[in-house]
Amino acid sequence: MEKMKRLFLVVMALVALCAAAQVERPKLVVGIVIDQMRWDYLYTYTWGDRGFNTLLTDGYRCNNTIIDYVPTVTAAGHASIFSGTTPAFHGIAGNSYSINGKTVSSVQDDTEKAVGGNEKTRGKSPRNLITTNIADQLYLATDYKSRTVGVALKDRAAILPSGHNPVGAYWFDSYSKSFVTSTYYCDKLPKWVADFNKKNRDVLAGDINNTPAGTIITFALAEQALINEHLGQGEATDMLTISVSNTDMAAHNTGSHSPKVDSIYWQLDKELARFIGILDERIGRDNYLLFLTADHGGTHGCPRMESINMPNGAWESGEARNVANEELKKQFGVDLLLKKDHGFTFYLNHEAIDSAGLNTHEVAQAACQALAKPNEVEWAVEVADLDNYPIPSILKERIKLGYYPGRSGDIYVIQRTGVQLGKTEWAGSNHGTWSQSDSHIPLIFMGWHVTPGETSRLTHMTDIAATVCAMLHIQAPNGCIGTPILEY
Ligand SMILES: [Zn+2]
Repeated sequence: MEKMKRLFLVVMALVALCAAAQVERPKLVVGIVIDQMRWDYLYTYTWGDRGFNTLLTDGYRCNNTIIDYVPTVTAAGHASIFSGTTPAFHGIAGNSYSINGKTVSSVQDDTEKAVGGNEKTRGKSPRNLITTNIADQLYLATDYKSRTVGVALKDRAAILPSGHNPVGAYWFDSYSKSFVTSTYYCDKLPKWVADFNKKNRDVLAGDINNTPAGTIITFALAEQALINEHLGQGEATDMLTISVSNTDMAAHNTGSHSPKVDSIYWQLDKELARFIGILDERIGRDNYLLFLTADHGGTHGCPRMESINMPNGAWESGEARNVANEELKKQFGVDLLLKKDHGFTFYLNHEAIDSAGLNTHEVAQAACQALAKPNEVEWAVEVADLDNYPIPSILKERIKLGYYPGRSGDIYVIQRTGVQLGKTEWAGSNHGTWSQSDSHIPLIFMGWHVTPGETSRLTHMTDIAATVCAMLHIQAPNGCIGTPILEY
């Protein structure tokens, strides 16, 4: 009997082994995000036979990929790309939001400490990301054998894509001018990261956020991660996430198509070519699945649009809140009924409303009226009462998909199309709205089992994770609402 039992177990183990061996997967998944890269930049910044051209020629292009929620900002974008869902489910409702009344940045975690950096560098983690993502699902599907590394200049752009169990996530710390991580991941900076910081000390001390040096250093760190963590060399599929942040920072400061932004994309095109070459050599084109996309697009700055008679405008949320608070004080006799704002979302002062015995809905309605402003804000809506506002259903849907209870504000503001957050005199570009300029992103898949081609049918940011997971035959992230794009 005992012998039979043992034989049965051996057979079952063999069956399990064969089943596992039958699942064909690439050695490596590479997810590249270009911060604030609007879709049309693919065709603006393609110079000759370089990186973008390789992707356009050898990849499968989705020409109509849209972000289905607002606000279209960095943290929400990075979380959504890799989790296949939106802030309503993954909880990353903005670059910063409110948790228990306290404003936090998307990845701030004061229960953790910085690893590397200096006394000003703070602890970070992916704990605010409520759902799983591609890296997490790979980790689960491979009995924890899959290894992921995330790199970027921005903390949120390294942390949110790489999930809850990467071997490492590394971002640039502006206080110490070095790449750092946090105790969530490890207690000591790996030697290869410490060596990288030492070797590149002079470059890191410069202005890497606004120059091509930021692009070079990001891909150089990604290359070191590939080599030192042996990504794509193990028995399970590994993952590398790379986010290029200086494209966004330079565009905010100097405007899309400024000479600075042009020079960064020029360099990016070269770095992509070089990095694809490294992947081809180390892993092999047929053994890695790469995708490139963006966390959001961006507008043209007001001065540029004004100079060519195009509709434009700017709106400042802090100023609007002050004006609205004056109006609310006149009506209700209470100070600061709008407690704070994070760009497009405004928070009511519930303590003041309760202690003055006011009706929340009445205060919210009055606040919406005070925030709506001809030529700048078309609609300000109380999210809890959204269905009763006469606004297009597409906007209602995007507000709902971007709203997370307890983190997002009570009121959402939709600016007039073409009006950006900021001042009219700023040449810098911005983003965050529902409009095409902010929500139409590039998406290209290349490598393992990808047949070159293109589609202009409507696809969604949330389809990216759905596609990758379907191709790998792993369960989609637990909050995924996307649909696979590629047939495989
Ligand atoms: Zn961004």
